[in-house]
Amino acid sequence: MADAQTATQAPNVTRREDYNEPDWRVPEIALDLDLDPAATRVRTTLWVERGGVHDRPLRLDGDGLTALSVKVDGAETMDWHMDGPNLVVPLSGSAHTIETEVEIAPERNTQLQGLYASSGMLCTQCEAEGFRRITFFPDRPDVLSRYKVKLTADKTRFPVLLANGDPIAQGELDGGKHWAEWHDPFLKPSYLFALVAGDLVANRGTFTTMSGREVQLGIWVRAPDLAKTDHALHALKLSMAWDEKVYGREYDLDVFNIVAVDDFNFGAMENKGLNVFNSRYILADPDTATDYDYDAIAAVVAHEYFHNWSGNRVTCRDWFQLSLKEGFTVFRDQSFSADQGSAAVKRIEDVRGLRASQFPEDAGPLAHPVRPDEYIEISNFYTATIYNKGAEVIRMMATILGPEKFRAATDLYFDRFDGTAATCEDFVQCMEQAGGVDLTQFRRWYSQAGTPRVSATLAQEGGRARLSLRQLVPPTPGQPVKEPMVLPLKLKLFGGFTGRPMCDEQLILLKEDAQELLFENLSETPVLSINRGFSAPIVVETNRTAKDLAFLSAHDDDPFARYEAMQQLMLDTLVTSVTNGGTDHAAVIEAVRNTLTDSALDRAFVAEAVLLPSDSFIGDQMAVVEPEAIFRAREALRADLGKALEAEWRAAYEGSLANRFEYSPSAKGARRLKTVSLGYIAASGAADADQLAFDQFSLADNMTDRQGGLTTLVNGASPLREEALEAFYQRYQGNGLVLDKWFQAQALSTREDTAEMVERLVAHRDFTLSNPNRARSLIGAFSVNQRAFHDVSGRGYRFVADQLIALDKLNPQTAAKLIPPLGRWKRFDEARAAKMRAELERIVATPGLSKDMFEQASKSLD
Ligand code: ZN
Repeated sequence: MADAQTATQAPNVTRREDYNEPDWRVPEIALDLDLDPAATRVRTTLWVERGGVHDRPLRLDGDGLTALSVKVDGAETMDWHMDGPNLVVPLSGSAHTIETEVEIAPERNTQLQGLYASSGMLCTQCEAEGFRRITFFPDRPDVLSRYKVKLTADKTRFPVLLANGDPIAQGELDGGKHWAEWHDPFLKPSYLFALVAGDLVANRGTFTTMSGREVQLGIWVRAPDLAKTDHALHALKLSMAWDEKVYGREYDLDVFNIVAVDDFNFGAMENKGLNVFNSRYILADPDTATDYDYDAIAAVVAHEYFHNWSGNRVTCRDWFQLSLKEGFTVFRDQSFSADQGSAAVKRIEDVRGLRASQFPEDAGPLAHPVRPDEYIEISNFYTATIYNKGAEVIRMMATILGPEKFRAATDLYFDRFDGTAATCEDFVQCMEQAGGVDLTQFRRWYSQAGTPRVSATLAQEGGRARLSLRQLVPPTPGQPVKEPMVLPLKLKLFGGFTGRPMCDEQLILLKEDAQELLFENLSETPVLSINRGFSAPIVVETNRTAKDLAFLSAHDDDPFARYEAMQQLMLDTLVTSVTNGGTDHAAVIEAVRNTLTDSALDRAFVAEAVLLPSDSFIGDQMAVVEPEAIFRAREALRADLGKALEAEWRAAYEGSLANRFEYSPSAKGARRLKTVSLGYIAASGAADADQLAFDQFSLADNMTDRQGGLTTLVNGASPLREEALEAFYQRYQGNGLVLDKWFQAQALSTREDTAEMVERLVAHRDFTLSNPNRARSLIGAFSVNQRAFHDVSGRGYRFVADQLIALDKLNPQTAAKLIPPLGRWKRFDEARAAKMRAELERIVATPGLSKDMFEQASKSLD
């Protein structure tokens, strides 16, 4: 029976409160790898020291390794044993030299963790626990070592040999082989180890640091991709300069290399001096990359570079502290991107992302605190909560401290913990000390899961107004009862008649369950602007009318609040339509008209503001999600907006026809508004809409416009749809990253037959589960297409479960990441919920299921 089977193999739970310091330290390690895709020899020397007074043996983590030889202090020994996958060596003294030898087969490594092969090259991914798949080692982030690495390989197949740190020596060997030696002078945990071997070329550059040292930069790719690396190199230089200017952080090695690989489980990895990237976050030219891609490349390059300080120089004591480096580093990359263009649009995009992925996570079965208390498989905790809510937590502390004290606090943190493995608590203490604030209650942001909800009611009594605030933190798995949080709320009042601000912006800290604020001497009826800039990552409910929201969407002086007012107005309208069939769209139409025709506004902002909330976000507002009704209500509003404002959309469309491709904030904004307008023109049912989309598609000189034309057609029924899909496919055959867009466009289609089409695409000759980007472009995209995935027949659920079961056998990490859409069953009607549960049960009962999938699927059933 399935239950018996999983019960007997129930995977171990790791708990934060069980943390102990390492029994043995490893101040130095030498690795000697004879690289070969079929059989790589790894000879490792560890200099180990007993930590404290104890008589426990040396335990080295391993995963799928067989020890071919073990030496202690130079002599071969038989005095060792395996404990499951791990190697245990009894040692008598306080310091020894341990040598081990293993053989691994990178070409058979489909998990893409440890050492693996991708498009003819060999590369590594060690975070979180991949180093133990290469050699026996205490594979935990608080064991910090100095690394010496020697790589030997066939010179023709692997002319380039890279590792962390600085290149020390290289040479030729008989039999067509060569070798290279790299030393990393900085202490680092094993998860930051990396090597790359391949036939690669580099786009080279230099950067002179603030103290005048010259750093050699290299973006390494296969020769045909070299022309697509300028943007990444430029972004790297901008990031290096930005971290000096904003955080006073200088780069510390003589070289900084980035390698792009095609098969990668996530975005990129910050290995010391040798970042390894998913090629989608490096390669760009106007013909193949969208503006979104360009922005994402700059953000990820910055993110990984910033980890050199927030992650590498100061690392994490244990994996429960993951947000210490990830939340902080996301906050840093978000601030960097905000400084490169429109900060308001960047904030809107980040909040939209948080609402699309983190809020649902926080409201579902996989909810966990920013600093989790336990895990089965740490890979499952590289989540939107750790990364994006973690970034919001740092942002709130920055808001509370103000810029100068926040900078003093990060200086203190980097100074105090340089070269060590730290905790979230260490970080907060630096904030308290340098900021002169007490963050005792604020710490609940690290320990309590769930998105706080605030209700804000403004009541006028003559010349006074009373603002009543109440907060509620909903129960989450394992945390039925919550304490009130500290919520930094930026707010302001506007005169509903004159439109004038009635006070300066205030920052209030809501700390109690309920609090009241009094405003005196008001000369007119006030309208409340609250959580401006999204100062707290919460849900706010107000008693504002449609008129108030329309007013704020036109007059608020905080661009985020303006966007937010429009979104709320749209949401209220849509939720009313879904629940009572209401079709009064007049208020939304007028508000959109005002924004669209306001020539003082940035085009990029307008494009964001006039977009309707997504199907899933509308669903998140409802007690029971009704996918078809939501889809119909949203389409009806889109059609009305399209028709009522057809002239305005056409004017915006024409006005945004940029001449030649240029990557600048204003050109990007124009392209964005162009495709958004095209979408509304199509929604209006205009006779020429398909041709307009097809012309945009075929005449485009850049991928943003081409993709915009294509996705508009893909949602429709025109014969031009097939023509465009075919032309796109022919043009980009052989370009994997662009074919991902082709699969994704079809998986995200709002058409009724999408499930059927996606089932057919799995058999397409370019589809494969073994490339994570491709798997995500079809299976991942389909499962967030609310209408198609939740087809009442249940075929979408069955299809995704089948694919995930197959993917788990190859790549558990990537498969487990795709479980959450199935885990949202509680939000749907009984019939759908039963079907979703049945698929999760089928997954849990699959023989040989990975612990990654076991954890995600079994928790999703609770
Ligand atoms: Zn990161």
